[in-house]
Amino acid sequence: MRSNKHLVILGGGYGGTTLIHSLKGIKGLDITLINQTPFHIVQTEIHRFLGGSSSEDEIYFNLEKFSKKHGVEFIYDKAIYIDEEESYIKCKSEKIVPFDYLVIATGSVSLFPHQIQNINEYSKDIKISEHLRNFQKEFEELLSSKDTNKNIAIVGGGLTGTEIALEYASRLERLGICNSTCNVSLIEQQPTLLPGASAELIAQSQKACDNANIKRYHGAFVTKIEDKKIYLSDDTSIPFSMLILTIGVVSEQLHFKNQVAKSTRNQFIVNQNLQVGEHEHIFAIGDVAYLEDEDGHMVLPTAQNAKQQAKTLAKSIGNLLKDGKIKAYKYKHKGTLVDLSQNLATGDAFGIQFHGKHAYSLKRTVNAMHTRIFK
Ligand SMILES: Cc1cc2nc3c(=O)[nH]c(=O)nc-3n(C[C@H](O)[C@H](O)[C@H](O)COP(=O)(O)OP(=O)(O)OC[C@H]3O[C@@H](n4cnc5c(N)ncnc54)[C@H](O)[C@@H]3O)c2cc1C
Repeated sequence: MRSNKHLVILGGGYGGTTLIHSLKGIKGLDITLINQTPFHIVQTEIHRFLGGSSSEDEIYFNLEKFSKKHGVEFIYDKAIYIDEEESYIKCKSEKIVPFDYLVIATGSVSLFPHQIQNINEYSKDIKISEHLRNFQKEFEELLSSKDTNKNIAIVGGGLTGTEIALEYASRLERLGICNSTCNVSLIEQQPTLLPGASAELIAQSQKACDNANIKRYHGAFVTKIEDKKIYLSDDTSIPFSMLILTIGVVSEQLHFKNQVAKSTRNQFIVNQNLQVGEHEHIFAIGDVAYLEDEDGHMVLPTAQNAKQQAKTLAKSIGNLLKDGKIKAYKYKHKGTLVDLSQNLATGDAFGIQFHGKHAYSLKRTVNAMHTRIFK
């Protein structure tokens, strides 16, 4: 029998690991972390890994070691079912894990819209380590192949797609590979890259892509992928040698005993206290949680948001153990930084515009502040 309360955290990503770190030293709580892989992936560095600017050591961190350091039990398993009435989790291995408090921080996976014909053949998620390694291998093989007219196509010109395209273009330039040998194409159906970002950020990112000779396609959406060609709604067809889809994210299904409210992207709809439905002891944070800000806009799924939610929730859990009040969550947008490759970045942080090497250093500092919790 436990005398302490038992907190179970599903997912050792940005939200889950930040929550554990923020709860360090807390009394009266036993913590179990369940993650479907043995490692945490630093997703904000994936583009650099793909382009060869960072190594596996910089993006994978061992969760067993992290948990041990934080006095947490680690279970390498996939949670598949939540019994909110009896307060237990069922894992893929059939393991049953009871809880007093539950935090769902299972993040999201890449979205592959079924409206695109043949999409299943190309549904390779950069967030999954096996696919990530394969993409890296494919790129290295492409670099050394003697073919000409090669084209690396990236569909989705949000932050992820833009950063990957720039990393690839930069590597080609460093190796002296010209456009007629290998080209990078970025396909975004909206009229600009980074839809929804500030005008300055859009302008700087587009300028960087144009300077890097990345061919941008805007205004038409992908309808079909077939025989190494991407077909767009305006009848354009784009041949490719390698293809990465970064169209958006969706959360995987995680079932409760009774139905709970979810967004169209399978996220759990949470209240200001980050609680799921009517369940006062069940919380969701990060990409898997759907929350609107005061103006009714969805809080975007970012690492920044996942970490802020984790820190607020750590305070709430501390308060709950002392019969105190839960802290309401309010997202504070601290800024956005976009890697432009070649040790340059652009962005806004704390209301100030940053460009070039200063922005790059700031982005690396933000990343180091996250990864220090694993060291
Ligand atoms: C290439 C790229 C660049 C990005 N750049 C930025 C950026 O610059 N700034 C920014 O703020 N955000 C950025 N993001 C977004 C950011 O990475 C995500 O918003 C963030 O990872 C969300 O954190 P999370 O904790 O909700 O989920 P994740 O970090 O995705 O973690 C979820 C964890 O849960 C585990 N899991 C999933 N399902 C289960 C299950 N059923 N059982 C057990 N474990 C499970 C997963 O294995 C994973 O470890 C980027 C994303 C990508 C892909």
